[in-house]
Parts: sequence; structure tokens; C-alpha cells
Amino acid sequence: MLTMGLDIGSTACKCIILEDGKNILGRAVVSSGAGTVGAQKVYDEALAMHSLKREDLGRLMVTGYGRFSFETADNQKSELSCHAKGIAFLMPTVRTIIDIGGQDAKALRLNAKGMLDSFVMNDKCAAGTGKFLEVMAGRLNLQTEELGEWDAKATEEASISSTCTVFAESEVISKLSMNVNLADLVAGIHRSVAKRVAVLAYRNGIVKDVAMSGGVALNKGVVRALGEELKTEILVHADCQLAGALGAALFAWEELCKQA
Ligand code: ADP
Repeated sequence: MLTMGLDIGSTACKCIILEDGKNILGRAVVSSGAGTVGAQKVYDEALAMHSLKREDLGRLMVTGYGRFSFETADNQKSELSCHAKGIAFLMPTVRTIIDIGGQDAKALRLNAKGMLDSFVMNDKCAAGTGKFLEVMAGRLNLQTEELGEWDAKATEEASISSTCTVFAESEVISKLSMNVNLADLVAGIHRSVAKRVAVLAYRNGIVKDVAMSGGVALNKGVVRALGEELKTEILVHADCQLAGALGAALFAWEELCKQA
């Protein structure tokens, strides 16, 4: 029996097709775009990839920022519960999750059963989110996907003192004009994000194992800097960006089993 989890984020829409509540059959990620365009696209793509139709899905659970606007779903669930569920499935030893998405950052604590115990979040300011990294990458004429590789080449991290995205951007422009090495600048940008997110994470308490989820976890430079700030190893699963969609698919499976 198949279930689908759809995570409609502010920046990216993610989809997981799950078989019998345990095997990941399909994955898809598309950028959100305007309105419900991204959600419909990722849903269509995931079904088409496996020549499936809506009737082939036992249940469809939707999560994320845009979850109230996708009418094809059977039910909706908060992204916090879904991220916790998804990460606990992928990495059962994890007790702390740092989820950095396109426009927010969250720190979650899980109990020994992998259920959400507590959380703190920043959704008021771009600093410490994927948006900050996108703005900085644009300023440096890089793709956000390239930031991790540049970070690895840094020899002397350039310090960015402003926490505000707008002021930090001016600081980056000024450092570029002083011929500061690009890799060192990228590493400094990652340090700035890490410092900001570490404050959030410490507020909720750090219990090992610690994992990162969300799209920004794909940036090895942020993972490095955050690990240094939190003085701990940070685990990252290849499906880190899809953790919320996976959690939604798992909740859909649980509901299906209850109905049976
Ligand atoms: P949301 O759920 O808030 O829409 P996601 O968790 O999907 O956000 O993360 C989106 C962010 O992840 C974007 O800021 C994007 O730049 C970043 N991102 C996605 N893929 C990569 C990658 N390969 N390398 C670095 N950053 C990435």
C-alpha cells in the first residue's frame, strides 16, 4: 500500500511516496514558485515518475507552510511533527534536530520514542536562514549549491560582524572591494549563520545525537561551522531536505493502518 507525504515549504516543495510505511519508493523536490504552483508540480512529478494516479495512493498527508491550500490531500499535519517523525525514521538515535529552511530555522528536541518534546524557531528574520545564504551567494555570483565547495577551500575565515542581512550584504560588498579571498568570505558567511542558529539551538538545549534537516543541511560549510559552534558532530542524512515529507507519508501510513 502506498502513501504520499507532501511538504509545501516557502522555498521548496518536497514529495515522498512510501510503500507499506517503510520503503521510500519515490522522491521529488521543486522550487515553490507562486501560490500552489510548486505543490501541484511536485505532486504531478512524483506520480508521473512511477506511472501512478491519485487512486493508487492509500492516503496523502500534507505539511509545511502551504499545507492549508492543497485540497487534494486527505489530511494535514504541522511541519514540526513531520520533521521529527521523518528524522526519527531515518536516524533513530537523534535527539536534537536543527532544521534550516528557506525562510526559517528551528531547533527541535525529540524524546527516546522519537516524538517531538520541545522546539524553538526563528521565522522573523532572514539572518540564520537559507534566504541569507541565497542573498550572499547572489552577491558573490555563486549558486547556493556551490557554497559548500568554496567553504572547503577557505584558509582564513573572514569575519562578518553584522547579523542583519542587509548590513551583512554591505559588509560582503566592502570586503570584496578589499580583495578578500572568496573562499574565506564564504566561510565567514557560514560562521555568521552558524552563530545565529547556535543561539537558537542552545535555548532549546543540545542532547546527542544532533542532526541537521532542511535544504540548508546540504551545505557542508554550514554543517561544519554549526558543528564547531555547538562543539558536537552533526549528522546529515542524504534525504535531509525530504524529512518533513517523509514524516507526513509516515503519518499517512499510521492513519491508514488505524482505518483498517
Ligand atoms: P522550505 O521548507 O522552507 O521551503 P527547505 O528546507 O526546502 O526550505 O530548504 C530550502 C533552502 O535550502 C534554500 O534556501 C536553498 O538555497 C537551500 N538548498 C537547497 N539545496 C541546496 C544545496 N544543494 N546546497 C545548499 N543549499 C541548498
